[in-house]
Amino acid sequence: TTILAIETSCDETAVAIVKKRQVLSSIVTSQIETHRQYGGVVPEVASRQHLELLGEAIAQSLNQANLHPSQLDGIAATCTPGLVGSLLVGVMAAKTLALVHEKPFLGVHHLEGHLYASYLSDPSLEPPFLCLLVSGGHTSLIHVKTCGDYQTLGQTRDDAAGEAFDKVARLLKLGYPGGPEIDRLAQQGNPDAFPLPEGRVKLPNGGIHPYDASYSGLKTAVMRLVQKLEASESDLPVADLAASFQKTVVRSLVKRTIRCALDYNLSTIAVGGGVAANRGLRTALTAAAEAEGLRVLFPPMSYCTDNAAMIGCAASEHLSRGHTSPLTLGVRSRLPVSEAMSLYGQSQA
Ligand code: ATP
Ligand code: MG
Ligand code: FE
Repeated sequence: TTILAIETSCDETAVAIVKKRQVLSSIVTSQIETHRQYGGVVPEVASRQHLELLGEAIAQSLNQANLHPSQLDGIAATCTPGLVGSLLVGVMAAKTLALVHEKPFLGVHHLEGHLYASYLSDPSLEPPFLCLLVSGGHTSLIHVKTCGDYQTLGQTRDDAAGEAFDKVARLLKLGYPGGPEIDRLAQQGNPDAFPLPEGRVKLPNGGIHPYDASYSGLKTAVMRLVQKLEASESDLPVADLAASFQKTVVRSLVKRTIRCALDYNLSTIAVGGGVAANRGLRTALTAAAEAEGLRVLFPPMSYCTDNAAMIGCAASEHLSRGHTSPLTLGVRSRLPVSEAMSLYGQSQA
């Protein structure tokens, strides 16, 4: 199956062509520069930019893959979750292409894209596996039972891991997005310089939740530390702070992931989302998994953060099982990933 996939759920305008689990072309245009002046993503501005960039991205993607739309087996677009106006641009473009070229249309759940991004580094990967999903908006442990059947076993109670990286980066006066900056600085710092609290989630019986986590307390602890250090020292030890923060987040993620994989008897762990690019996480999780005899997979670096190749990958799994979406499918700002199968069902008119 060869799929053209479109991703416009937030501030990346992305188009890719994926053949089974192989990327034939992948275009990602980030709008970060545009939104930086406003200090965040402005939904109305984002939709307009998608509209301006998408046509060219589709043309480039087909060109690079050296394909004509008639050679595609399906057209996919992220239809949830995300900014409704932005999702609409991608979904309308995909439906139009599907209609004109008489191809099946697939509306894809964005998180399914992140779940399957590791297929791009190991095409032989098959469910069941445990996915550690660590993105800008989510931090979850998801049991991928089969394509379309997902159970969330653990999650953050407040900030997502990527969000914590971004907020701490802001406290350290680093650029946005903060994850890559902290990752880079952490390499030069001492991870034991500042002991920080790992956010534990209490159970009603007084115990500790084995898989859930909390990162807002950690962020507050860094904030207090920064205030204290700024009052007493001239130069903030940014590298040491970055290394100490990263070590704490990574330890929390690794501990919960390994515990969950062992408890549920899942011998393979696939990581997805922007934080999957973090070198500290890659090293620590790989070592911990090896020690327990578990296999861990990470997406190729460029497919950790938002891209359309991972959307094509998810669509390809569905299309190969005969799943297609009706052209009447709408977009939604939210939808639990456990309900991803509701996007398919009725066959095309
Ligand atoms: P979601 O998929 O939950 O809707 P999103 O699409 O915005 O959120 P992604 O694109 O998957 O999120 O990831 C972006 C996040 O990843 C940002 O918070 C960014 O700081 C973080 N990130 C990117 N690279 C790294 C890195 N090397 N280390 C840590 N965090 C990183
Ligand atoms: Mg983004
Ligand atoms: Fe994402």
